[in-house]
Amino acid sequence: MLEALKEKVFKANLDLVKHGLVLFTWGNVSGIDRSRGLVVIKPSGVDYTTMKATDMVVVDLKGNKVEGSLKPSSDTPTHLELYKAFPEIGGIVHTHSTYATAWAQAGKAIPITGTTHADYFASVIPCTDDMPAEWVMGEYEKETATAIIKAFTGKKPLEIPGVLVKNHGPFTWGKSPDEAVHNSVVLEEVAKMAQIAYTIHPDLTMNPALVKKHYERKHGKDAYYGQK
Ligand code: 13P
Repeated sequence: MLEALKEKVFKANLDLVKHGLVLFTWGNVSGIDRSRGLVVIKPSGVDYTTMKATDMVVVDLKGNKVEGSLKPSSDTPTHLELYKAFPEIGGIVHTHSTYATAWAQAGKAIPITGTTHADYFASVIPCTDDMPAEWVMGEYEKETATAIIKAFTGKKPLEIPGVLVKNHGPFTWGKSPDEAVHNSVVLEEVAKMAQIAYTIHPDLTMNPALVKKHYERKHGKDAYYGQK
């Protein structure tokens, strides 16, 4: 079942290793088949070096396992709630990549300090609020999505394809698992560049017109970046 999506999700998980975004069994990627309402996700705690495409787990949007011999990622409820809240997304990634996680641990949204950020994220990359103890002790992974969804009130998820979960790490998304991985790589680089830039000049600024120009050159109806 969903063999093509399993291959895509498997490959996207390995791409996290290739791009240096995960160590050990950290991180996870999922993809959704919207027409069937089914999600394919990495199994929990399985080494990337031994993981196979057939190890990917299929779950429905209520979290019931539909196919697979292994337990799905511990973060599955976060992924499922995000798919329900953001109907335009098709893939989700979670990592503990160093610089993005450092910003998450500091509880700081990443301001736009350069065009690399503006090429992919239309505005600051938000950081969620502290989660109340009842959320942490209750349905923690599901409530992690509640915190993310709250941080996206009034925002378009595809215009800001990522978030920092306070004291935890980044989640990114895209129209596909591949795009979500791409955005995860970009987020890590942007987090690194911003941290270095602030070290050089704590009062740095960026002209909002330059932010708009760079975002719109790659996205939206008048985008002209790349080939036709
Ligand atoms: P899983 O192996 O269960 O996906 O967990 C990885 C992780 O990074 C948890 O935050």
